Order: sequence, then C-alpha cells, then structure tokens
Amino acid sequence: MVFSSIIGQVKAKKLLTRAMAADRLAHGYLFTGPDGVGKTSFGLALAAGLLCEQKSAEKPCGHCAGCLQFASGNHPDFLRICPDGAAIKIDQIRGLKKAVSFSPFGSGVRVVLIEDVQTMRREAGNSLLKILEEPPPDNVLLLIASESEPVLPTILSRCQIIPFSPLSDDQAVQVVEKLHPDLNREDARSLALLAGGCPGQVAALRDEAMLQLRTDCIQAITAVPEEPARQIELALDLAGRMAELQENLDMLFDLLAIFFKDQIVAQLSPVQGAEVSPGAAQRERWNLQHLSDKILAVDAARNELARNCNRGLVCEVLLLELVA
Ligand SMILES: [Zn+2]
Repeated sequence: MVFSSIIGQVKAKKLLTRAMAADRLAHGYLFTGPDGVGKTSFGLALAAGLLCEQKSAEKPCGHCAGCLQFASGNHPDFLRICPDGAAIKIDQIRGLKKAVSFSPFGSGVRVVLIEDVQTMRREAGNSLLKILEEPPPDNVLLLIASESEPVLPTILSRCQIIPFSPLSDDQAVQVVEKLHPDLNREDARSLALLAGGCPGQVAALRDEAMLQLRTDCIQAITAVPEEPARQIELALDLAGRMAELQENLDMLFDLLAIFFKDQIVAQLSPVQGAEVSPGAAQRERWNLQHLSDKILAVDAARNELARNCNRGLVCEVLLLELVA
C-alpha cells in the first residue's frame, strides 16, 4: 500500500491508487488545500511508491535500491523544488526543463515535486506551462499549492487537481501524536483542534509555556474547591502568568474554550467506557449553563483585550470567574 502511512485523505488515496494500478498516471497533478493538511507528506509517499523497484504490490518495500536512495534523499530520479526566497524563480524552472529533457536514470519514472506553486510569477509559470504542455515521457509532476494565493489559471488547466480537506478531529490527533511523540495526549488533542484539522500547523502553534499554563489553569478549574482565600490567590497567580503571555494569549483562550466545549459534548453524549479526562469529577458539579457561562467569559475576555482593556485586569476577572 503506497499510502499506508497517510492518515485520512481517502478520496486522494483512492484516485491515485486506481491510476497507479491501471498504469494511467497523469503527467501533472496539483494538490490543493489549506496549509499543514498533509499535501507534501502525501506527495512524498506517492514519490516513494513510484520510485520503489519492487514488483510486488507492497510499495514502498523499504529495502530495494530505489527505496534506500529515496530514504537517503539522494534518488537521482526525484527532484524537489521549493521557493528560492519568496517565490519559485524562472531559473529554477529552466533547470528543471533541462533535467526532464533526459530520460530517467533508472528504469521507471522520474518524480518532480514542486512546493508552493502559488508563489510562481507569470514568467516562471509560463516556463512550467511549457513542460506541462509537452511533458517528456516518464515524468510525473506533483505540484503543491497552498490556498493562500491563487495558482496561475494556465497551470490549473494543465493538471489534474486533487483537493485536500482538513482531517477529522480524531485523524488530526493521530497525526499530531505521530509528528510530536513528546506531547502528552491532552496537549496533542488541544493543538490538533486548534490547528483546525491541519496537523502541519501544530509546530508553529507549539508554545511550551502556553501549554503548561493551559494545564495549570485546567487543573485549578477542575480541582476540588479549596477555601476561598486560597482559591483567589491561585486564580490571581495564574492570571499574572497569563497576562505575561505575549501573542499566544488568544491561543490559550481558544484552548480553554475547546476544553469547556469538550465538557459540553461529553455531557450531551456520554460514552460508556470513555477514558476519564481531566475534570471528570468537576464535570459532575457543572451543568450546561455553567459550562456555557464559562465559554462566554472566555469570549468576553478576548473581546476586552481586542478593545485594549487592561491586560492584567482582564485575566484576573476571567480566572476568578473560571475557578469559581
Ligand atoms: Zn522498494
């Protein structure tokens, strides 16, 4: 199975598996979809499968010459082009044009993976178009484009377009756990949800101080209530740390809102034998109204910060409300 390492993206897998089985791959594919959804990983898995020299259906086999060369990053029939600075330049495409004019070194195909195709300006795009219009035999071009900018329409018209969509929550968590084995389950899940089903974005979202503060806040929120004075002290301490978070404070608000929404879902659809999440005891004491009030408190804090209210004060009011 070429795509056994890929979680989700069933449509794309089916389409390409069928094309490979029938030996009817197109010359050019364009993978589109949001950043971090897994387009490049998918392209690499496809390239590995195409460059495996094993004849059996189990590709990539992982031990033939093709697989070993690919794994070492030195396969002569695999070309990878990334933006040089902000964009893919005309010289890069000229170099590619020359490279694909020769037959592949091995007996199979040459795979060309071009990332961030949307950064290409007209000149480079026109040069690539010439390759796509008269594709040299035994070359497969995998173009990867983010949705951040439109791709030149002439390029679009010459490729088979494969759309990628955000993963389901469970799939995203699985990928995040694979990519970040050091994260605990709660953090992996929070970040997967925060990344909106695009696990590749998690690396940029990781902020250990913010994650620790999230854990501490949730611990305080779900703890058995202590005497009021001690509880206020704890809330103010957390609020102080929260106010010091710079641009990631919004992200912490998102994570807290996700936590309370999860509690609502758990109350509405209790699953028998589900693993006990943090706050299982506290959940008994909360009703839906409490939970919805807490989400509203997080939203209110977010709005107040957007209106430039005093940061420290906003965090204090929020924490006192949440641990109450
Ligand atoms: Zn192999």
